[in-house]
Amino acid sequence: MRFYIITIFPKMFDSYLKESILGRAIENKLISIKFYNPRDFIKPARNAYSIAVAGGALQNNYKPVDDKPYGGGPGMVMKAEPVVHAVNKVLNAVKGKNKKILIINFIPNAEKFTTELAKKIPKKYTDVVLICGRYEGIDARVDKILKTQKISIGDYVLTGGELPAMVLIDSISRQIPGVLGKYESLEEERVSSSEVYTRPEVLKYKEKNYRVPKVLLSGNHKKIEDWKQR
Ligand code: SAM
Repeated sequence: MRFYIITIFPKMFDSYLKESILGRAIENKLISIKFYNPRDFIKPARNAYSIAVAGGALQNNYKPVDDKPYGGGPGMVMKAEPVVHAVNKVLNAVKGKNKKILIINFIPNAEKFTTELAKKIPKKYTDVVLICGRYEGIDARVDKILKTQKISIGDYVLTGGELPAMVLIDSISRQIPGVLGKYESLEEERVSSSEVYTRPEVLKYKEKNYRVPKVLLSGNHKKIEDWKQR
């Protein structure tokens, strides 16, 4: 599966994608990740007005991707054109008969991302474009132009779409055969519980004993599975 991230902050992904399971998946070519920066798709000269309204320092190479919102409001809005051009660059590079491309735009109050969706995506698509909004969001016309699927990762507002992109890549990648090691895959198949314990059996903390639930020490697999299910 190939992921294409449209972001003005590609460095934010550096450490997360290099470590652990995802780092290994990239090394083993089970997934690949490419970055496209909307700033690379905008000409500085055309945006002198944006620089002035943003109140930013006038720098020769500064390429603002944002502008004032129509209808007023305190924040700035990411312009549609650089995002559309960046996605088009991906689409032109990904041409091919067997390619199935999904374009996701992150929106806080859109359809919620779930494990079910994480399982469906690698079965249905070969290439996923993830558009990371910033400021007050991206000019809504990108959704019509690019026919995006709008996704939220939860009922809260983050400062940008970079964390949601990492969440999706992580969750989708673990559904791709070979990404999880043998041991982790086995764990996935079994009934798993979010309440887990390891040694010591009795943990002493501030004069109190904290014990592992008896059922987990019983050796009775049926009872243990029932407990986890509950
Ligand atoms: N003005 C927007 C609103 O009220 O919905 C909030 C924009 S938010 C500050 C900037 C960007 O962060 C959004 O365009 C989106 O890409 C991303 N974002 C923030 N929270 C998110 C969430 N819960 N799920 C997905 N994306 C989110």
